[in-house]
Amino acid sequence: MALKKGASAKKILENSRKAFASWKKTTPAERARKLARIREAILEDIDLIVEEIVKNTGKADTDALMSDVLPTLEMIQYYEKNAARILAREKRKTPLMFINNSSFVEYKPLGVVLVISPWNYPFQLSLVPAITALAAGNTVILKPSSATSFIGRTLERTMRRAGLPKNVFQVFRGNGRKAQELIKAGPDLVFFTGSTGTGKKVMRTASENLVPVELELGGKDPMIVFEDADLERAADAAVYGAFANAGQTCVSIERLYVQESVMEEFLGKLLEKTRGIRVGSGSDCDVGAMITKEQLMIVEEHIDDALAKGARLLTKRKKKGLFLYPQVLSNVNHGMKVMKQETFGPVLPVMAFKTEKQAVELANDSDYGLNSSVWTKDIKKAERVVRALETGNAYINDAVKNIGNPHLPFGGAKKSGIGAYHGPEGLRRMSQACSVMVSKGKGKEPNWFPYTTGLYQTVKKLAQTNYGNLNLIEKTRNYLSLYKKIKR
Ligand code: NAD
Repeated sequence: MALKKGASAKKILENSRKAFASWKKTTPAERARKLARIREAILEDIDLIVEEIVKNTGKADTDALMSDVLPTLEMIQYYEKNAARILAREKRKTPLMFINNSSFVEYKPLGVVLVISPWNYPFQLSLVPAITALAAGNTVILKPSSATSFIGRTLERTMRRAGLPKNVFQVFRGNGRKAQELIKAGPDLVFFTGSTGTGKKVMRTASENLVPVELELGGKDPMIVFEDADLERAADAAVYGAFANAGQTCVSIERLYVQESVMEEFLGKLLEKTRGIRVGSGSDCDVGAMITKEQLMIVEEHIDDALAKGARLLTKRKKKGLFLYPQVLSNVNHGMKVMKQETFGPVLPVMAFKTEKQAVELANDSDYGLNSSVWTKDIKKAERVVRALETGNAYINDAVKNIGNPHLPFGGAKKSGIGAYHGPEGLRRMSQACSVMVSKGKGKEPNWFPYTTGLYQTVKKLAQTNYGNLNLIEKTRNYLSLYKKIKR
């Protein structure tokens, strides 16, 4: 599985195609058994995997285990149990026009899936697309982020233990240039998770060979707290949603809108909980480090921009190396970077709203549309707000962890992505749907040549009967006479 240093993108793709020739012949049930082995191999190695993630990302231990490894296990088990059913031949109806025919959809593997993954959840965001592709019968080339290339070794070890056949899963290490070489080499699907800017580059290159893309991109997720919400619970969720993994989560709460009438009370709770957060490393801390100096600089730039434009910092500004202490900003507006661009750090800007309409307008005033979080005891109101929000996903009275439900598709609206993974939809998007019709007809079909005036009249009568507003007796009479003609 491990590639020799310097192996070209073309060679890797060639290896993957060769492996595909036999992997595609496996049944979904055989592949489910391999997924089970992958799950078991992860569990055998779980502490080591967590240790490797923590060492290379600065995450808190519990974050690595609970938010990177656990959702991956859940997703593997979901496809283990459900892939055969989701990919099974699906019978479809056949219209009367196609009398003597039956129809079905067959789901076939696509070929080679290139997975390009980011650094923020290196395990989950590499392995979940990879196992989805494998479950659908594809082979996989993984290009992890160069900031977390260690995950390549971790996953090679896991796949080796699971006994995956040679080259069914390969890792290609390198930067964005290397990823571009792989896209140009012509895989059958590019599954990309990363920033919106890079997503555009991926799509541009893939379009040259018409390679389909799945893009899971950035977010600027809003949380809306109405005055009738459980404020204590909402404040707990807000600090978790905004600051977990040091805010470096695609579905982090990046904007908080609170109804004016409860703003003061809510802010009090929010600040108290923010002050209680333990920053550091190990299993007894809440928020770990930021991944790189560059990422930290982006976050600080957003804070500085907001302060220069009149925002107030309600927390003490403090950092130690790559550890940035959680920050809460008020007096913010949509002219500030912190309200419009993805911050991807432990910063929570809070803004007041008066009405439901205004809350929706503020939340939708964004290029992004990944996730959202709506808080109220009135579920009807919450559902109405969710329908009006321009996001691909939403959580009512909680935040963030809806991404971990394997039964639901996950994908972004607007500039947060194209397509979706997880759930039945995710598996089918990694498959080629082949629509099949079977004819039991004998001799010549009525639509074949030669065309005659008689055929024209028959087709016209069929159209009037099928699509016109005739009563039941007229319809039956017409169908009977058409049937006799067709039989002749
Ligand atoms: P990034 O876009 O910088 O990099 C992602 C991957 O793309 C890396 O493997 C990188 O090496 C590769 N890459 C870089 N340049 C490339 C190019 N020109 N062509 C092809 N590939 C290239 O993103 P990141 O900083 O690693 O991750 C953070 C971003 O990912 C955030 O925007 C976050 O919101 C997003 N994200 C989205 C989801 C989601 O599910 N929607 C999940 C996690 C992270």
